[in-house]
This record gives sequence, C-alpha cells and structure tokens, in this order.
Amino acid sequence: MELLITKLKTEHDLPDEELLRLLTREGEDTELFAAADEVRRAHYGTDVYLRGLIEFTNTCKNDCYYCGIRRSNTRAQRYRLTQEEILSACRTGYDMGFRTFVLQGGEDPRNTDEAVCALVYAIKEHFPDCAVTLSIGEQSRSSYQAYFDAGADRYLLRHETASEDHYRKLHPAEMRLANRKRCLFDLKEIGYQVGAGFMVGSPGQTPHHLLADLRFLQQLSPDMIGIGPFIPHHETPFAAQPAGTLAMTLRLLSVLRLLFPYALLPATTALGTISPVGRELGLKAGANVMMPNLTPARARQHYDLYDNKICMDEEAVKCRTCQEERVRAAGYRIVCDRGDVRR
Ligand code: SAH
Repeated sequence: MELLITKLKTEHDLPDEELLRLLTREGEDTELFAAADEVRRAHYGTDVYLRGLIEFTNTCKNDCYYCGIRRSNTRAQRYRLTQEEILSACRTGYDMGFRTFVLQGGEDPRNTDEAVCALVYAIKEHFPDCAVTLSIGEQSRSSYQAYFDAGADRYLLRHETASEDHYRKLHPAEMRLANRKRCLFDLKEIGYQVGAGFMVGSPGQTPHHLLADLRFLQQLSPDMIGIGPFIPHHETPFAAQPAGTLAMTLRLLSVLRLLFPYALLPATTALGTISPVGRELGLKAGANVMMPNLTPARARQHYDLYDNKICMDEEAVKCRTCQEERVRAAGYRIVCDRGDVRR
C-alpha cells in the first residue's frame, strides 16, 4: 500500500484498479494523510484561505432527494436576504479579514439575471479587492456569462455524482446529469475559477461511482473541489439513510490532494457536523480552505440542508474566532487573502 501512495504522490495519478484498492482498503490512512499534507505544504505552505459563506436564499425549484431545502419540503420556512442584508454581511466579513464572499442558495426563481448581476456588481463596488463566488445551481450559459460580466470571479457547482445510474437515485427524472456537466464546462470556458465536487456516502454510492467522480474531475480539472459527507435530513426521502463516514471523507480528501496538488479543497461544514474535530482532521488530510458562515442569524437556521448542521445559532464574529483557533490547533495559519488557485 505504501508503494501505491508513493506512486500517487509522485505521479498524481494511478490506474483504475490501484485507485480502487486505495479507496476500499481496510485500516488506517496515516501514511496517506502524511503524503497529502506534504504535497499541500509544497504548494500552499501552511496557508488556509477563508471564504465568507452567505446563504442568501433557501427557496429552490429543484427536488433533490438528499436536500433539506428541496421544494417538496413544505415545512421549510423560505427566506431571501435583501441586498442590504447581504452587503452588511460582507462588511462584517471584510472587517474580520475575509477577501472572498460565497453567495450560495437554492435555485430561486427570483434569481433573475438582473437581480444576480446587480448583487454581484454592488459587492464588487463596495469591496473591489474581494473575490465573489456564486453557487446558485444550474443556469443557462448566457446567465453565467452575464454574472461573469457583472464581476463574478468563481462558481461552485458540485457535480454530485458523475455516474448516470447513481445520479438517477439522487434526483428526480426532470434533472439531468448531462446538463450539470454542461454547466461546469460552460463555466470554465467563460473564465470562472470553477469548483465541482460530491457528497461522500450518498445513498447508493459505490467505490466505482467514486472512481468515476475522480475521473470526471480529472477531465474537468476544476480549481476547487468541495466534498463532504452526506448527512440525512428528516424531511427528505433519505431521512433513514446512514450518513457518510469521517474516515471515508478524510481518505478522499487526501486522494484528491494527491491527484490535484494545486486544488483548493475546503474542510466543509458537513465534515464538522459528523465529528467535532472533522474540519481539523480535514486540514491535516490535505484541505486548505474553510468557509465560516456569514449568514445573518434570522436566516441561518433555515438554510437547513441536513440535520444537526453546526454553527446554526452563532454570530459571525464567534464563528471567525472559533475557526481561527481550530486552524491554529491543527498546525496551519489563516491568511487574509483572496486565496486564488495556484496552478
Ligand atoms: N443550489 C446550489 C447549492 C446547493 S447546496 C447548487 O445546486 O449547487 C450546496 C451543496 O450541499 C450541494 O451541492 C450538496 O452537495 C450539499 N448537500 C445538500 N444536501 C446535503 C445533505 N443532505 N448532506 C450533505 N450535503 C448536502
């Protein structure tokens, strides 16, 4: 196994059978984490970049089986932040040293091109030294172009799974994997820094699906890769499904770091939800990004993608200090920087 890790560390790739062996092996991943950390330090030192996450709408027209804000969840209390609330969240974040804001939300029909562009434009006008990341789902190429022209720098759209059969288990028939992939390639062509990714341990996921995810990512070559464990939400069809595990998520973070040495890999909120030290362990396994929550208190508890999500009642400032301590405890250092990809 050590040989495989060394090979992956130097060649940044492995044949299918060997990757599958690494993904399915029994036992501890200590050496895998050490290899990933070495590669991460070679590319990014001990830097950890912060993204201020603003969950600006939980209204969604989609019905993904795993997601707590799916349209069929009639118990979800829907909200949409005003532009003033969003700018004020950015101000709080800016004063705490954030130089990237991530605007994430459901596929809200009120996200017209005009509305999204006005928002992006306003943020860039007030905070010209900051990067704006959008994460508002599948849109037309012309919409993506319009947001980009308004100043958006980055876009996060997890592909969720690269396999057709698995995609069908996670989404209703009206959603299409081919369209999601089309979106990702359009975003790249337009010039965004692009983030893709998937949930670990989503219902029906097999090692072969994970292998297909890694191969798809190699084809796309994204700047950012977001992964986190699947966690059930009680008001979804997957309420009784088991969550993804800490061990498998950490293993995949390390494999991603070795396959994509340059990538920005977040230690996600979902990882912090399945274990109190999940994000610290994520950093040690190769992650180099954290995404503290800047969503104002009135809305935060309603951006309820999965059960027991952490930091639901924390104020932004507390979130920031807490993350700073976690990063330091893990042996890394938060930097006040846009944190662009280093290819
Ligand atoms: N509407 C946007 C944002 C989705 S929320 C979009 O489509 O990109 C961001 C991510 O949360 C999703 O891409 C999904 O991977 C993750 N997510 C949703 N439900 C989840 C759950 N139950 N457990 C863990 N992660 C979940």
